[in-house]
Amino acid sequence: MEQQVITELKQLLGRQYVMDRLEDRICYSFDATFRDFPPDVVVKPGSVEEVAAIVKLAGQYNIPVTARGAATGLSGGSVPVRGGISLVLTRLNRIIEIDAANRVAVVEAGVITEDFVNAVNKAGLFYPPDPASAKTSTIGGNIAECAGGPRGVKYGITRDYVLGLEVVLPDGSIIEAGNRFDSEMAGPDWGMLFVGSEGTLGIVTKAYLRLVDKPQAKQTLLAIFNSLDDAARTVSGMIAAGTIPTTLEIMDNQTICAVEDYLQAGLPVKAEAILLIEVDGNAVSISTQAEHVMKACRQWGATEIQVASTPADSDKLWRARKAISPACGKINPTKISEDATVPRSQIPAMVRRLREIAQKYDLKMVIFGHAGDGNLHPNILSNKHNHQEMERVEQAVEELFKAALDLGGTLSGEHGIGYMKAPFLKWETGETGFAAGQKLKAAVDPQGVLNPGKLFTA
Ligand SMILES: Cc1cc2nc3c(=O)[nH]c(=O)nc-3n(C[C@H](O)[C@H](O)[C@H](O)COP(=O)(O)OP(=O)(O)OC[C@H]3O[C@@H](n4cnc5c(N)ncnc54)[C@H](O)[C@@H]3O)c2cc1C
Repeated sequence: MEQQVITELKQLLGRQYVMDRLEDRICYSFDATFRDFPPDVVVKPGSVEEVAAIVKLAGQYNIPVTARGAATGLSGGSVPVRGGISLVLTRLNRIIEIDAANRVAVVEAGVITEDFVNAVNKAGLFYPPDPASAKTSTIGGNIAECAGGPRGVKYGITRDYVLGLEVVLPDGSIIEAGNRFDSEMAGPDWGMLFVGSEGTLGIVTKAYLRLVDKPQAKQTLLAIFNSLDDAARTVSGMIAAGTIPTTLEIMDNQTICAVEDYLQAGLPVKAEAILLIEVDGNAVSISTQAEHVMKACRQWGATEIQVASTPADSDKLWRARKAISPACGKINPTKISEDATVPRSQIPAMVRRLREIAQKYDLKMVIFGHAGDGNLHPNILSNKHNHQEMERVEQAVEELFKAALDLGGTLSGEHGIGYMKAPFLKWETGETGFAAGQKLKAAVDPQGVLNPGKLFTA
């Protein structure tokens, strides 16, 4: 990168917010996947005007700009595969307003998800999207990836809570897209264009987010199964019968053992699978909902159902669920975390296909995920320094994508496409859909400045 660009960036932001030493560039070269691409320079703007000025400058010099929240992404979205500017949004971290009367919050893109959830909670309201990375991820990253989470089965995912966005477009102009409150609808809802666009169409700087009433009560249950297939059939059977819990998380035996080894949470290590289920609502409906859940679990083969009797018991179970990632990381250093998702009626078939794939390629695969959404997370626990194993991993991942698409599913339920799944995107969109995606990108970002090498530009 020309020294002149660095000089101009320092003039724009101040020296302390522009980093071009090798050690800084290395720190911003990776996310939660396993490959790294260093940017030429890292910048940390403190306002939307600064973001706009950086993007404009990048356009003048034809330099790529890759937005970065907390870099917890699992598809390589925030790594600058073609170098250029890493645009870190974590200084835009103000919760501007929580408007209880209109059930809307206004937040900047760099706010940590959990900080926002806690602030909303304190105001007596509820923001349901709950990615397992919420302690670290940012609202901007959640929007750009359309993050999901355990509560998706009842409450939906990030897109269901985005009303409107402030966005810096690739030419450096600043727009407000979408709506600021529920009943506003002046023109098409093209704020949605930026949800799930992975920083390829615009940089989100501020969001108007829908809030809902806080549930009065909740109940957590743990259903234990002797067969993974029975647990999978319970998920689709329960929802088909009209019982929609708040969360419906599945863990197979290898996941249970990994977490137990890591956390000693008292999980049933002899079980072939467990379902972690939560129901919420008003105090009166909770026990009825819990009864329906227990009935469905027994009907489909649960051997035991434990009911968390105190909030501490419930927290313990959720701590176990949230510990899956570090627990698996302890087994093998390279954790390939996929989120190929199928219609929930196909979960039993998908689980069978996943087990066959793991066996065929002789790989250690744990299966867990937001089963209520059909969003399974097969994680292959491998070592990137073992090249033979990594070749088998690549073949297994391809087969896993094919299996999901054969069953009417998708390459990604929530982690996005990034650069890692981009080579397979055509399998899902078809040639025509892919070409339309490329035209859209070219129309919004003709120079291809924003996050090149991702989605339709890989
Ligand atoms: C342990 C673990 C658990 C996880 N659990 C879940 C889960 O339950 N559900 C789920 O959905 N995901 C999950 N993820 C994946 C990840 O946390 C989400 O994708 C999250 O939304 C990424 O947020 P981030 O701030 O880290 O974004 P980053 O990783 O920094 O960026 C992700 C993408 O968004 C773009 N981007 C970031 N900020 C902006 C912005 N302001 N404007 C435009 N583009 C932007 C980046 O360019 C990139 O393409 C998990 C990850 C880990 C490591």
